[in-house]
Amino acid sequence: MHDHLDDDKIWANSGDSHLVEPADLWRTALSPELADRMPRSEFDLERGIETIFVDGQSFERRIPKAFSLRDHEGNGLGERVGRGNDPVLRLEDLDSEGIWAELIYPSIGFWMSSIHDPELLAAGCRAINDWAIEFQAHSSRFVCTATLPLLTVETAVAELERAADLGYRAAYCSVAPPTAEDWTDPVWEPLWATLEETGLVLGYHIGTEPHDAAGFHGNYYRGPGGAILNYMETTYGGQRAVAKMIASGVFDRYPGLRVIVSEGGATWGPFVADRLDEAYRQHASAVRPTLSRLPSEYLYEHVYASFQHDRSAPAANWAMGWRNVCWGSDYPHLEGTFGHTQKTLHELFDDVDPATRRRITIETFEELFPHVPAAPGT
Ligand code: MN
Repeated sequence: MHDHLDDDKIWANSGDSHLVEPADLWRTALSPELADRMPRSEFDLERGIETIFVDGQSFERRIPKAFSLRDHEGNGLGERVGRGNDPVLRLEDLDSEGIWAELIYPSIGFWMSSIHDPELLAAGCRAINDWAIEFQAHSSRFVCTATLPLLTVETAVAELERAADLGYRAAYCSVAPPTAEDWTDPVWEPLWATLEETGLVLGYHIGTEPHDAAGFHGNYYRGPGGAILNYMETTYGGQRAVAKMIASGVFDRYPGLRVIVSEGGATWGPFVADRLDEAYRQHASAVRPTLSRLPSEYLYEHVYASFQHDRSAPAANWAMGWRNVCWGSDYPHLEGTFGHTQKTLHELFDDVDPATRRRITIETFEELFPHVPAAPGT
């Protein structure tokens, strides 16, 4: 039986979701000495400050206001993220929101990109990957991303191969590498080759720069407008990462590679493609390496993007011709769509033609992850 609401329900796959690592994750898997150096977070609700500790460093950031509010059932929103770690409660949440399959990233685990000890990082990656793959086993709707120890390409490739054997379909890299060699450097060739060989999709989630990476502007702005400007800055890392891969010919050499930029909006794709083509044509005499095709062709074919609230994002598909746009919920994060997913999906898609809506909400994700079951009614 269907009530009126069910008939109106829009189901969507999510190209941007998260697990929230339990506090005892590192202690369970690692020696106390190593566990103490892994990322952890402390909340000071009075001051509205979260402090992240990682390998002897500490970083402060403001806690979103919503964290201290209660939802309509009286649950603190901070407690809600705990539901996301219980596969049964998580699926309940997804079903009520209309979210079907999910590409799932870590949360505090992103801060591992600020670790400087290759052995600590490799051990931490094995621990988080062993834990997340167990979670993935609970439902074919979960597609978890493996974390790679990027301080050396050898450790990254070894963990990527192990992750593929464990059953991972995706791995993520921080948008900037934690090394002196940028994504354009030949040192990363074995990583691209292994990604292509294993068929894993590469994810870049915005805001994952190592804290001291060159060009990272996180927490740079202070004073009037700072919060907005810092958020805007987090957006560019994913665009830079894929532009570096395109410009240095990675997709020329590894045509089986596919990359998704999560949580970074979508209309940037056609814009960046135009700028890369302009550079390629107008500055051809300085361009190294030369490419077999125009930069935009690599972007339109090999690069995917997920957005959550961005009003202009569907037009990147129907008006600008970038097919690789998908939606993402950011569940269970506070800035995501939880609690208003259906409202968001209707606002985004009620005026969009059915084929475009289907492509963005369902098919783009299925193209990346054809093993996931079909969403209800599709
Ligand atoms: Mn996200």
